[in-house]
Amino acid sequence: MKKFDPSNAIQDLRQFGEFGGVNPSVTDSATFTFMEAHTMTDTFHGETEGCFLYSRHWNPSNKYLADALAAMENTESAWVTGSGMGAITSAILQICSAGDHIVASMTTYGGTFAFMKNYLPKFNIEVTFVNMNDLDGVRKAIRPNTKMLYAETMSNPLLRIADLPNLSKIAHEHNAKLVVDNTFTPLIVTPANHGVDVVVYSMTKFINGKNDCVAGAICSTHEFINSLIDVNSGTAMLLGPVLDPKLSSSILKNLHTLHIRMMQHSKNAMYLAERFKEIGLKFNYPGMPEHPDHELLKSIMNKDYGFGGMIAIDLDTEKRSFEVMEKMQNADIGYLAVSLGYFKTLFSNSGKSTSSEIPEDVQKEMGMSEGLIRFSVGLDMYIERTFEKIVECLK
Ligand SMILES: *Cc1c(COP(=O)(O)O)cnc(C)c1O
Repeated sequence: MKKFDPSNAIQDLRQFGEFGGVNPSVTDSATFTFMEAHTMTDTFHGETEGCFLYSRHWNPSNKYLADALAAMENTESAWVTGSGMGAITSAILQICSAGDHIVASMTTYGGTFAFMKNYLPKFNIEVTFVNMNDLDGVRKAIRPNTKMLYAETMSNPLLRIADLPNLSKIAHEHNAKLVVDNTFTPLIVTPANHGVDVVVYSMTKFINGKNDCVAGAICSTHEFINSLIDVNSGTAMLLGPVLDPKLSSSILKNLHTLHIRMMQHSKNAMYLAERFKEIGLKFNYPGMPEHPDHELLKSIMNKDYGFGGMIAIDLDTEKRSFEVMEKMQNADIGYLAVSLGYFKTLFSNSGKSTSSEIPEDVQKEMGMSEGLIRFSVGLDMYIERTFEKIVECLK
């Protein structure tokens, strides 16, 4: 059997436009016409393949991008959303009903944490937050009504790795689904190959890579995606977080350069990690053998894309981290901004920005320092030069 590789899967797509354009045509229609009246009725009942009815449900441009994402993720199907949060909240609300329970990682993206902690109680859905790297703790947290385990392949900001093969085993032993946010590690990890049931993405980050839009995706089985967009009961269909098809067309073109970008992000981050080690800086990077999950990541990753573009350094105090970040922006190393996966380096103090939804005591428990700066390393051609500038800023 041919070995699966996500970038081969993207490269082998044949998706030309209706007039032979090498890029699929953009469909900017909200509604679609039918030649025969009964086809419309059948489409409403989900009984026709390849018929488009209304763009909140399906749209050809969204379908091209969704098909490409499903190919990349080695899943049967996918659906694209207007934001990463749109994907995450739709997947969760599709799987869980009132009275259900979720076991989730303590270290998820701030918005995900806030949704689970502050919003889901409205629907009487309970969440137990655990350290996902403690598999016994995960097992102990499971209850008879647990419907979902939720983790991020690479967590923010400490870059811990979820043990996907064991977590999926635990989930399936209890008839629960494992949902994983793979935003930090597209191409590097293919979660479905390790038993993950639903993969969610913020495409705003590496997948699009340009910081010019907000978008998300859900990749899973035909059964799950069809249930999400069921006209009578599907969360995505009824809450309506659909992606604008013009953006789908733009993101699809960027998806075709994702492998080159991921390799360069990874190469640059690895270079910085090695130099940071030499100068004795405290840092987290899963590509280094010192990282607690280095071996775990090696055991689940696809070769050739590196260990990712995210790296965090610990400058102990908030004050020092603020000083260094301002200097780095003035030295044109990159921007003092949240978000990630951009061609320029972005940096922020995690505790005071992207993880600020997480209470300070939980931040401490996670091992997060108030002086932690998270970097999304850019596509710099000469990273040695960037490193020299960083050293100047640390003086
Ligand atoms: C940004 C991000 C999200 C949220 O995505 P949006 O596109 O901003 O809605 C979710 N998970 C992770 C890991 C993220 O980095």
